[in-house]
Amino acid sequence: MASARFTVVAVLAVAGYQVLPDTGWWTAAWQVAIGWAATAAILLGARRLPRADRLPWWCFATGILLNATGIGVAIVSEEYFGLVDLPTPADPLFLSLYPACALGLAVLVRRRDRRRDWTALIDAATITIGFGLLAWVYVIAPEDAGDQMTRWAHATQVAYPIGDLLLIGMMTRLLRSGGSRGASFWWITGGLAAFLIGDTAWVVLGNLGDLGVALEGARWFRRPLESVFLVAFLLFGIAALHADARRVATRAETPPVRLGPGLLALLAGASLIAPALLGVQLEAGYVRNGWAFVFGSAALFLLVVSRMALLVREVERHARQVRDLARSDELTGLPNRRAWNDELPRALERARRDRTPVSVAILDLDHFKGFNDAHGHPAGDRLLKEASAAWHATLREVDVIARYGGEEFVVLLPGADAGEGRQALDRALAVTPLGQTFSAGLAVWDGIETSDELLQRADAALYEAKAAGRNQISQASSAAA
Ligand code: GH3
Ligand code: MG
Ligand code: MG
Repeated sequence: MASARFTVVAVLAVAGYQVLPDTGWWTAAWQVAIGWAATAAILLGARRLPRADRLPWWCFATGILLNATGIGVAIVSEEYFGLVDLPTPADPLFLSLYPACALGLAVLVRRRDRRRDWTALIDAATITIGFGLLAWVYVIAPEDAGDQMTRWAHATQVAYPIGDLLLIGMMTRLLRSGGSRGASFWWITGGLAAFLIGDTAWVVLGNLGDLGVALEGARWFRRPLESVFLVAFLLFGIAALHADARRVATRAETPPVRLGPGLLALLAGASLIAPALLGVQLEAGYVRNGWAFVFGSAALFLLVVSRMALLVREVERHARQVRDLARSDELTGLPNRRAWNDELPRALERARRDRTPVSVAILDLDHFKGFNDAHGHPAGDRLLKEASAAWHATLREVDVIARYGGEEFVVLLPGADAGEGRQALDRALAVTPLGQTFSAGLAVWDGIETSDELLQRADAALYEAKAAGRNQISQASSAAA
């Protein structure tokens, strides 16, 4: 409930900020206080977590503490020392928010995802590059024109959008991670979004200022805009204090979200930024950032192709898995009836081509119902497993044993005539575990009959073996007899 109380205080603090008197000192102090309170909330929340889960929160707390402190440093250095040229002493403090939060997010993602998820990484890169191009064209590249600026001033100015891109990339990666999506997860995401919205608004504001629309001075505009950053601070505090914070850093039980409509739209949008920007410049009659478009769209194409390759590979792997599952018996791991039905005609075809003999046999455990009744169904299952494994081990590499159903197995013996077939079955009979036995019917292919007819003869022979007292192998009479 600590988070509920903190939320109430947070709402009041942000509301109070709107009506503060119009002196820089008041507003700066209020902002710093909110940032410090958020830091305290994060540290408090982190203390309640297991030691191993605290690192991401410490990163967030560090970033917010330095950023908020920067607000105080900014007003002091401006009012007392008249430092307004970039970089001001406050800039390093402001900027440290980005690496600190990115590091926290990286730790968080690592803890949530069991394995390295390449598709998630590609998605994050796609979105970052898409928006990076946007930032390049409208924010980073135009600064080059300001020759009057010192190199350091320029670097400082450019560092902000780069920091935003870092956050965009890490936020996408977080959204693509597996694991819990509880309240804390969404508060963190909301906090990040607020930072990004605030920064974007500043940039737009700057551009409007260049165009002569001075919203910067307008109080009704400036206060809410600054509040966006305060909200970002506070959302991290709420996230840390929420009871759900415990689950944010826990390993993913659920696999990460796959390509949903929202993500798909975002990826499509990010990929289309390059041609859209090019179109805008062509329309304006000049192409100023041609090489940025070349490199940007080339990188995006490569990412899309990689994404596609990974997806196709995954689909193929799944298809293989499904096919293997559909063709093997769950209990014994042997080929099942479906696989057998595919295999037998092929074996007969090979025998016809090579003019070699081929034998098939049907095995049926004797008195298996009695075994089940005496020892229980699970013991019956174990017998099926052990017996089939033992039989399998006596067969040659080329032979096939499949579970035909229940306690019935079929054996394919390529190249084996009646004598060799009988020997193979005798060996199998001898290794049947737990003193159990089977009866078997053996049929040698006559070179003409279909697989069904061949199996029918083996089945008839099995029936004879049962009738003759079980624990024996009976050979089928020749076809059509
Ligand atoms: P016979 O010597 O005539 O073959 O007698 P039997 O008891 O082996 O034959 P019957 O066909 O009467 O009974 C087969 C039994 O096999 C009945 C069924 O409960 C059991 N069974 C079939 N599939 C499984 C299985 O997957 N696991 C276990 N534990 N039992 C199974
Ligand atoms: Mg049976
Ligand atoms: Mg049986």
